[in-house]
Amino acid sequence: MVPIDRQALNTRIVERGKELYAAIESEKPSLFQEWRWVGKTMGWLLRHEELRTDALRFIDVFPSLATPPILIDHLEEYFGSSVSLPAWLRWTLRHASCGGRLATTVLAKTVHYTMRKLGRQFIIGESANEAVQRLSRIRREGCAFSVDILGESVLSEAEAERYGTLYMDLLKALGPARKEWSPLGAEQKTNDLDWGFHPKFSVSLKPTSLYSQGRPQNFDGSVEGMVARVRPVYEKVLENGGSLCIDMESYQYKDLSLEVFKRLRAEYPAHPHLALAMQAYLLDTDRDLAQLLDWSVSHGLPICIRLVKGAYWDYEVIRARQNSWDIPVFMSKSETDAAFERQALLILKHHPTAFLACGTHNIRSIAAVMEAAKALGVPDHRYEFQVLYGMAEPIRRLLARITGRVRLYCPYGPILPGMAYLVRRLLENTANQSFLRLVFADKMDILGLLAEPSEAASERGAVAGFSGKTDRGPAKEGIHEGCQPGRFLNEPAADFTKKEERSLFAQVITVVRQEMGKVCPLFINGADRTTRDILPSLNPADPADVIALVSQAGKAEVEEAIGAAQAAFARWSKVESPVKAGYLRRAAAWMRSHRYELAAWQIGEIGKQWDQASADVAEAIDFLEYYAREMVRLDGPHALPSPPGELNQYFYEPRGVCAVIAPWNFPLAITTGMVSAAVVTGNCVVYKPSPLTPAIGRNLVEAFRAAGLPAGVFNYVPGRTEVIAEYLINHPWITTIAFTGSTQVGLRIIENAATVRPGQTTVKRVICEMGGKNAIIIDEDADLDEAVPAVLVSAFGFQGQKCSSCSRVIVLDSVYDRFIDRLIDAAQSLPVGPAHDPAFVLGPVCDHQAQTRISGYIDVAAVEGKILYSGKTPAGSNYVPITIVGDIRPEHRIAQEEIFGPVLAVMKVKTFGEALEWANSTRFALTGGVFSRSPRNLNEAKMRFQVGNLYLNRHITGAMVERQPFGGLRMSGLGTKAGGAEYLLHFMDRRVVTENTARRGFSPDLL
Ligand SMILES: Cc1cc2nc3c(=O)[nH]c(=O)nc-3n(C[C@H](O)[C@H](O)[C@H](O)COP(=O)(O)OP(=O)(O)OC[C@H]3O[C@@H](n4cnc5c(N)ncnc54)[C@H](O)[C@@H]3O)c2cc1C
Repeated sequence: MVPIDRQALNTRIVERGKELYAAIESEKPSLFQEWRWVGKTMGWLLRHEELRTDALRFIDVFPSLATPPILIDHLEEYFGSSVSLPAWLRWTLRHASCGGRLATTVLAKTVHYTMRKLGRQFIIGESANEAVQRLSRIRREGCAFSVDILGESVLSEAEAERYGTLYMDLLKALGPARKEWSPLGAEQKTNDLDWGFHPKFSVSLKPTSLYSQGRPQNFDGSVEGMVARVRPVYEKVLENGGSLCIDMESYQYKDLSLEVFKRLRAEYPAHPHLALAMQAYLLDTDRDLAQLLDWSVSHGLPICIRLVKGAYWDYEVIRARQNSWDIPVFMSKSETDAAFERQALLILKHHPTAFLACGTHNIRSIAAVMEAAKALGVPDHRYEFQVLYGMAEPIRRLLARITGRVRLYCPYGPILPGMAYLVRRLLENTANQSFLRLVFADKMDILGLLAEPSEAASERGAVAGFSGKTDRGPAKEGIHEGCQPGRFLNEPAADFTKKEERSLFAQVITVVRQEMGKVCPLFINGADRTTRDILPSLNPADPADVIALVSQAGKAEVEEAIGAAQAAFARWSKVESPVKAGYLRRAAAWMRSHRYELAAWQIGEIGKQWDQASADVAEAIDFLEYYAREMVRLDGPHALPSPPGELNQYFYEPRGVCAVIAPWNFPLAITTGMVSAAVVTGNCVVYKPSPLTPAIGRNLVEAFRAAGLPAGVFNYVPGRTEVIAEYLINHPWITTIAFTGSTQVGLRIIENAATVRPGQTTVKRVICEMGGKNAIIIDEDADLDEAVPAVLVSAFGFQGQKCSSCSRVIVLDSVYDRFIDRLIDAAQSLPVGPAHDPAFVLGPVCDHQAQTRISGYIDVAAVEGKILYSGKTPAGSNYVPITIVGDIRPEHRIAQEEIFGPVLAVMKVKTFGEALEWANSTRFALTGGVFSRSPRNLNEAKMRFQVGNLYLNRHITGAMVERQPFGGLRMSGLGTKAGGAEYLLHFMDRRVVTENTARRGFSPDLL
């Protein structure tokens, strides 16, 4: 193949771009034609940037606004105070909001009309028959199509099956219609293929719409599930003489989609028209594409690739930033554009085995493909152009004229549920860097837009793409290892989209398994100690499986540990804060380098699923890093207002020996949080782990040992609660007790701590996090695509055994049925089984006692309310069925008592006010959530929903250190906020020193 002269190629691309532009310069896509209703709306959106977010949010909520009054309320809430609305609209809105019937009717009709028009712009039809009619028309106009079915997010297997049926119905309608269509490309009509080489219809689908349980950590299982669902649709496509394209979704499903594509392609080797969409904006795509092309050549399987830039850019950036993961997309538009050209060129170079579908509306990108194809001598039948229905009509018509090979991507489905697609398209077309906007709305100079996308950027992209790394994520190494602690950044939990992460995780679980079953000694005054009293710690999924043989401390050992801590305190309390912080950061570094092992212990000893275990370890590291920085910040002395001649200062000092009583549900994270706070503030610690998770607790010994923490500062005493717990907290030398656990135990500790015992010199302080009875409110305009999975993960994640878990869901009457139906379907789809297998989302509860207690509550639920759903449990120990119980009222026990298991009470209310009242009707106030798209209701919740941590429009578990300081009010806790800026203060006392600096009438500060 003749090497390409890139400079000459670029000159030809620019020339070609100018020609293309000149041919359509006088035209406008319908989206930007201001004499049309849709164009007017777009024009308004573009002119009023300040309202763009509200407008897109309004379009997003619109499908759930069931009645004119609700619609008017929302219009008022979103736009009532805006001066940018046209005068007539403002006037009508004002009258409608005051109850004017005529104004309400006019406004509601106008909004409905506008939304339908907007929807219709991008959606080909609402039913299969309507779609087929419109598709036939598109073919008469000389374009091919790929049809896709729109709908709500698929949250359950029932919904996935319904989606599958829709595809089958579509294919039933397309099959016969196909026979009526003449092939496109007049001269090749004989073989009944478009242009002589392509089936007459194409169907696009997203694997997650046919299989709801796809999860990166369960990679093989997810691929199997997806292939099993896509296969019958594909077979039907083939039976009817069509082709299939697998759309590309968000990054987390990228590798799954690639694998599904390869499996199907290999399964049907005689059908070369199976296509896969690939996104140029992904850093991985250079590598993925090269590998896929190699695969195709080595397997002798020709493939089709629809190359697009990618539609989820904002989502990918947000998701990566929130999780502290590497950002998977390019951060500049020109890098994406350059990658698109680079990748198109690569596919064209492979034209004997790879067919390119060029999916873009950008004239520069189109010209680049045309000129590259020409330079490489690629035959016409090895590439085509694709555009989205409703966008860029002049470009589409021009391409049809010049090349004859244009395919329209045509979504169909009911317009209202399809609004998410509409929002994505509007977001794209109104984005500042959208090619269509810049050309057709902003009238930007075309030469600038045809310029070669940044060369430097593209080279960096190619390198980053191959290495899979980006320097745009948090600069972790510098921050964690440098001498100066930098800004705190949350530690990323494992990103299971990465193959290396998944396989390493699985390997380490196997290795750690070999370590289990050994003796777990105490750790007192810097030395391991075994005792004769040994208790086994058991795997909750299999009580015959011994995780560790744990030496039990008796009173003598506790006494010894307290003595060691008291002795160490004299030295440790005087260590400089940065030095103490250094120990924490070294422990964090050790945990970071053992993060898989630490997670594996949690999977074995307490049944945390892969993602839950990994998140727990990340949180533990966060506590160490965060409190280390906090202590440096709090290091004194601190200045107080001081007039001349007087110096006022304060500083913090540690309190003495601190007892830490930790729970089993966040066995490493919460333990590390409490212990590290006590240690870094200069206290010495005696730590009693939960009897259910002593081996996990022992990991903290190893972390501090690796950090070189002096002997006696941290002592580890697992033991029988009834033998040592009260002895420990009542000991006169204990000054501070840090506890996280049930309200019942917390209150007893507080009561005990109030009693002064002989030899005691300090009033004990209790730092206490207790239970919750957390509620999520589902408002009438809630986005159920978001609310259902969020309730599911909040209520049933780790079997509902988090103090922040959702145990009540309070649903507005008008959405009750739809919400409950979807929730039950989704709950029914959750696979249950042991935690070491990533196929399972739920596992057993912590032990037999818990199982019995929760089962008792399920009996109560059946009496107080109506069991709406009771899940199946696998054979094995300690499983409790997911239980959803309806007709629950505030006075019921199920609505008041903490259950700590996968039991969800559903409460139906008439108004949002009533929902808030019911949400507040327990003695607890830990976490809470609201799903609503009403700004007024969200505001009201902020003011009136009395919980320590309120989450709006998201799940209610998984508070992040620094971002969401965690802790409850009322009977949920004493208001200390773990992971927040004030937390360390609870472990210290503040001393104020006032010095008279004047001597005989002069003061240094006046000199
Ligand atoms: C037929 C067809 C099928 C499609 N199928 C899919 C699919 O399966 N999956 C999918 O994800 N998308 C799909 N898309 C959408 C596509 O990914 C683009 O969102 C859309 O086409 C706009 O890109 P453009 O080249 O037309 O316009 P342009 O205006 O040239 O490019 C816009 C694109 O540039 C990228 N971008 C914007 N800002 C930045 C930035 N700051 N840094 C880096 N990159 C940036 C984004 O990808 C954005 O969509 C499809 C598009 C078509 C035409």
